[in-house]
Amino acid sequence: MTETMTAWVVRRPGPMATRPLERVRLPVPEPAPGEVLVRVEVCAVCRTDLHLAEGDLAPRRPGTAPGHEVVGYVEARGPGAGRFAVGARVGVAWLRAACGTCRHCVRGSENLCPHSRYTGWDADGGYAEYLTVPQDFAHPLPADRPAEKLAPLLCAGIIGYRALLRSDLPPGGRLGVYGFGASAHLTAQVALAQGATVHVLTRSAAARRLALELGAASAGDAYDAPPEPLDAAVLFAPVGDLVPVALAALDRGGTLAVAGIHLTDIPPLVYQDHLFQERTLRSVTANTRADGRALLEHAARHPLHVATTPYPFERADRALEDLAAGRITGAAVLHIGD
Ligand SMILES: [Zn+2]
Ligand SMILES: [Zn+2]
Repeated sequence: MTETMTAWVVRRPGPMATRPLERVRLPVPEPAPGEVLVRVEVCAVCRTDLHLAEGDLAPRRPGTAPGHEVVGYVEARGPGAGRFAVGARVGVAWLRAACGTCRHCVRGSENLCPHSRYTGWDADGGYAEYLTVPQDFAHPLPADRPAEKLAPLLCAGIIGYRALLRSDLPPGGRLGVYGFGASAHLTAQVALAQGATVHVLTRSAAARRLALELGAASAGDAYDAPPEPLDAAVLFAPVGDLVPVALAALDRGGTLAVAGIHLTDIPPLVYQDHLFQERTLRSVTANTRADGRALLEHAARHPLHVATTPYPFERADRALEDLAAGRITGAAVLHIGD
């Protein structure tokens, strides 16, 4: 095996115009005890990668390769890592480690573990030809699906799935989806498969067309009122201005879940207009391995249409620029070793 590899790392976080990503050669990492080395086929691009590149999320480690929607093959196993065979196809997601013993982990909320660690933030991620991952945090993946259609499930799919759970959508309920990027278009399909009526509200005309093709009952502009009151809503756009808009669109007792890791400031809320009548505003923080298993099982039973835009690995910076500019419909996917 070669001893060095190509990777993109966040050198100096800043606006994409300042070229915060740098293409470098790094040593191929060694799997530590309990870890596997993964040869990357593809890595999907998540909005969190953009937040890391632009500095909305402070770096936790200088010069880290982003990327946490990785599909690849186990290339080598560290000491004591017997869960996967060499050659097994695995997925690497955002959650990389949790302590397993704190009050949150013990209650099944490892996403809230104060000692949790994240792929592409605390450790090098999948904008690279290889990465390591603790075997217990890798997801087994089917060998017969195109990598490009699996990768977006690993964060966009999982976080959207958790956001949908957090929105308390009742059976057969009316769901509002604010923003319609990679995560939202998968989440809408999960909700539709569960019998929901889905209303999509987004600034992108191309995304509104995709929403209607996928079965949404309506698709309006981001600040439009949906055609009927909502039982639940998920805010995917990282835009705090939309929080009061979405709260006002809820029916009595409705819940708004904010799916993103970063949100611009929320303007002042007016109690009568936005919260009274037992409307609820909730955040969504990362996700658990159980969320990942549930979403991947759902996708195996109800195949999802995964809208993707492929990019060669050499153009990772271009993919993030296009995401920042709202030019991508569905998920951008970097083709690295497939
Ligand atoms: Zn913990
Ligand atoms: Zn992500």
